[in-house]
Amino acid sequence: MTLALDGGTPVRRAGWPSWPPAATAEQRELLLEVLDSGAWGATSGTKVTEFAGAFAHSVGAQYGVVVVNGTVALFLALRALGVGTDDEVIVPAYTFVASATAVILAGARPVIADVTPDTLHLDPASAERLIGPRTKAIMPVHLAGAPADADKLGELARVHDLAIVEDAAQAHGAAFRGRPAGTLGDAACFSFQSSKAMTAGEGGLIVTDDLSLYQRLWSLHNVGRSLDGGWYEHPEVGWNLRMTEFQAAVLLPQLALLGGQLATRERAITFLERELKGFDGLALLPEPAGTTRNSRHLAMLRYDARAFGGRGKADFVAAMTAEGVPLDAGYRSLSREAALRPYGVQQVCPVAESAEESVVWIRQHLLMADEQALADIITAAEKVRQAFAS
Ligand SMILES: *Cc1c(COP(=O)(O)O)cnc(C)c1O
Repeated sequence: MTLALDGGTPVRRAGWPSWPPAATAEQRELLLEVLDSGAWGATSGTKVTEFAGAFAHSVGAQYGVVVVNGTVALFLALRALGVGTDDEVIVPAYTFVASATAVILAGARPVIADVTPDTLHLDPASAERLIGPRTKAIMPVHLAGAPADADKLGELARVHDLAIVEDAAQAHGAAFRGRPAGTLGDAACFSFQSSKAMTAGEGGLIVTDDLSLYQRLWSLHNVGRSLDGGWYEHPEVGWNLRMTEFQAAVLLPQLALLGGQLATRERAITFLERELKGFDGLALLPEPAGTTRNSRHLAMLRYDARAFGGRGKADFVAAMTAEGVPLDAGYRSLSREAALRPYGVQQVCPVAESAEESVVWIRQHLLMADEQALADIITAAEKVRQAFAS
């Protein structure tokens, strides 16, 4: 069979479910309600505050502060915890660049630690080796929707008196040993950017159980005001980092949809796991130990070029995409990110660096597809392998 790349017929012509999914009647209604009310900002309306409380409640946390995006959420959490100039924060090498640039925004330095070979999550042993006198915090990333090892990292934080800021940008609804992502550290940060499991196009949120931390976060995101102070009273330096009421109107109804969407993606993973059993050269990365609930933001697969005639990952991604199955090549290791070099403390991270050659992603919106569509992923991979290997 001729590859679509070489002019053959693609395995799949039909598209994939779109993300975000079509708006619901409730979203339209709430959005129009905000529009007609004239209360478009969080300081005049009630929906942002309502969403902050409802989201925090949904993950079992006490308090929530809603901000413009996930990057800013991470920055504010670090800042509210007292991380500043010349401090160091340990960040895993295999994550979105914002995990590290948020540290830089706080004036501190991201120290890039390696990840574990099986799950690509922050490796507690690598993190421990990098703890020094300036280390103030660890940032576990709940990568691809699976929770990081909160027990091991929590223990490290206790022993060395460090804060834990969860990067939960990909982990809405995830849980570790029964405890929801959002309650596994001092503060946890979520994102509502377009690709995330809940979205308003952009948006972010910080949850915490600590009242004084909440008060600081609220102040920092609201121009340094205090909860019981006046409009022009600014006891500390803060910024306007508030979300609009329009975004909260779009987000509020999603809280009730998240569980069903997670279940759909879980079924997709079960199907792919079954179909890839015995598939030479392609396997899903294992779920991290202790995962009670995985929000399945991405499916990460290990690509073994040896089964594909020695052809590299980039060729595989291009061939699959031409077959109508748009895969993603994923992150580059932050240990190799030149832009971070002047700000961060970079180590050689062999595991994250080797993932650049061998890990491919199936994105969230593909995982919302039905079994017929998911079967096309396997068919296309088989076709590409036969063509590459021949
Ligand atoms: C999306 C994401 C962020 C940043 O969130 P934004 O809302 O895009 O600023 C941070 N960390 C991780 C792991 C992410 O996936």
